[in-house]
Amino acid sequence: MLIGCCVHPALHLVISDSPASAVPTIIDQILCQRMETMFYNCYEEKIRPCIDLIDSLRKLGVDKDLNLPAIVVIGDQSSGKSSVLEALSGVSLPRGSGIVTRCPLEMKLKKAKDGNVWKGKLTYGHCELDLTDPSEVEDEIRAAQNVMAGEGLGISHELISLQIESSNVPDLTLIDLPGIARVAVGKQPADIGDQIKRLITSFIRRQETINLVVVPCNVDIATTEALKMAQQVDPSGERTLGILTKPDLVDKGTEGNVVDIVQNLVVELEKGYMIVKCRGQQEINDQLTLNEAIENERRFFEDHKDYRPLLDDKKATIPCLADRLTAELVAHIIQTLPELTKEIEEKLSATTKELEICGEGVPDTVHDKMTFLIKKLSDFGQNLRSLSSGEEPDDCIKEERCYAKVRNEFENWKDHLDRVKYQFYGVMRNKVMEYEKAYRGRELPGFINYKTFETIVKQQIVKLQLPAIQTLKKITEIVRDAFLDVAAYNFKGLPNLMRSAKIRTEDLRKQQESQAEIQLQIQFKIENVVYSQDSIYGQKLTKAKSISEEGSDQDVKSLKSKKLGFTIQSMPNDKATIHEMTAHLKTYYKIATERLANQVPLIIGYYILQEFATKLHVEMLQLIQEKDQIDEYLHEEVDVADKRKMLRNRQQRLAQAHDHLSKFY
Ligand code: GDP
Ligand code: MG
Repeated sequence: MLIGCCVHPALHLVISDSPASAVPTIIDQILCQRMETMFYNCYEEKIRPCIDLIDSLRKLGVDKDLNLPAIVVIGDQSSGKSSVLEALSGVSLPRGSGIVTRCPLEMKLKKAKDGNVWKGKLTYGHCELDLTDPSEVEDEIRAAQNVMAGEGLGISHELISLQIESSNVPDLTLIDLPGIARVAVGKQPADIGDQIKRLITSFIRRQETINLVVVPCNVDIATTEALKMAQQVDPSGERTLGILTKPDLVDKGTEGNVVDIVQNLVVELEKGYMIVKCRGQQEINDQLTLNEAIENERRFFEDHKDYRPLLDDKKATIPCLADRLTAELVAHIIQTLPELTKEIEEKLSATTKELEICGEGVPDTVHDKMTFLIKKLSDFGQNLRSLSSGEEPDDCIKEERCYAKVRNEFENWKDHLDRVKYQFYGVMRNKVMEYEKAYRGRELPGFINYKTFETIVKQQIVKLQLPAIQTLKKITEIVRDAFLDVAAYNFKGLPNLMRSAKIRTEDLRKQQESQAEIQLQIQFKIENVVYSQDSIYGQKLTKAKSISEEGSDQDVKSLKSKKLGFTIQSMPNDKATIHEMTAHLKTYYKIATERLANQVPLIIGYYILQEFATKLHVEMLQLIQEKDQIDEYLHEEVDVADKRKMLRNRQQRLAQAHDHLSKFY
């Protein structure tokens, strides 16, 4: 016979076969229907939209990105957790002694509008399994646990998700966790207790969860480990609801104590307690259906003189618990919405940023691919140009700007010239004396020998050639690295394009470096000519002479004070010649080094920055000609493509979630 009984009084009726004695009175039925109508209005207006909202977020997959409001069930081993969940969900779950629940089991209960629907879906790891009958659930969960936590007694933090859509379930998401074990038995790892506690804590400390603490009536509530753990993460109990089970197993005469607990008089929790009676082992052995068990439960509380008031207070029975949980969940959802919105906004902007870094993907059509490649190459060229003119784009910058490094090397070159100039000044007199002794002819003192002057100058300037080439090499390295950074930035995720850029950069580096080197060599050959404009030379010579007359050894003295370690030999008799010659040498050397201080950076800058950048861009543009290779060049790194896809999905669902939330307010 089909009988209506109120499992979730205001939510829905569970239709069950039960003995004739269980037929409710007509008044019961009417009351039940009236309650249902009242609740229905409230449900449609307030509750349903709220649950729908979270449902829709979950459907979008937002639960992958952040914690959505949920209810977590914890308790000591065999306290009755699975029994409560079974009663709420209408499906049998694995049970037995020891650790039966070895992975967190998420039960997403969705109330279906259509009366005869039952759809289940089990998701774990990469598996997704459609279930069509409640009887399949138990075995499949066992199998899933073996996959996730291994066959045996270990536990795993990986979630197994069971979604049930049925007209007989309340709208709830509950997570069943392994029971708290005090001591390891058999082959269990010695620290199994701690492992389980860590797992439980990771769930119950989330502000988004309501913690259901299941405590059997026949144990001392004060010693319950689960309650202690819940109190640690939620001291006032604003997120904790106590569920007392097994009221039928209480010692006769101690029922009053149980009632006190439910009335929140023993261990106070802000949310208080509920009491339920589930199927005992005997009832399971007798194959009592879950619906029959609900009916038995109602009669148990109705007929019990101590517990009856709890039923009247809506603090007893599974249907009342289902109602309460739905209401709690709704209230909790409303409370967490502002935080949830904020979190979604933050995640969304972080995702958008990450996507920007990933770059846009390669398009599908040949025409779009060509446009994409041209854009990539012209952006690359633009960035190279900016970099070579000292305005590198911010995103390409590593620690230090390339141009700053190059300028630093140019300054080092100038410093080197200055250093060498002072060294030269320091040894100049000795040199002049050496040459005077060897080559001076019939000239009187004070007439300088032009040959001596030219020889010394040439010898001195040629010494600068090697350092100039070393500067060139250092700068080439810097620029090559910077160009490769630009390529890595522009061709991120396109390994073949990057490889082409690398090969061309390397080839051009060699080519440009050798051309610049030849140019530097020519420059030093030109310096052999020994030339300066008369007017410039004349001016500088006069200045040099006046300084040398004021304090003839100033440069040398300052050198000594800098501890450069030169020894100055005693002044010879032909002082006049030496004075004259050093003034000329200093003048010319100054002019020549001033010229080189600019000329070497100009040559390097031209070949290594300007021309290298232009040529690299032109060479890369040649790729456009190779039409049949475009797919090859635009072949994406699998990782990047996957990451972009994942980020795009996340961005999309978060944007939709944000949209849902803003419409809800
Ligand atoms: P869990 O380890 O916390 O999931 O506990 P279970 O739900 O597996 O329950 C442990 C045992 O207690 C099972 O044999 C259940 O049948 C039994 N049990 C659970 N709730 C009740 C109840 O309200 N009354 C009685 N008599 N037995 C119950
Ligand atoms: Mg269990």
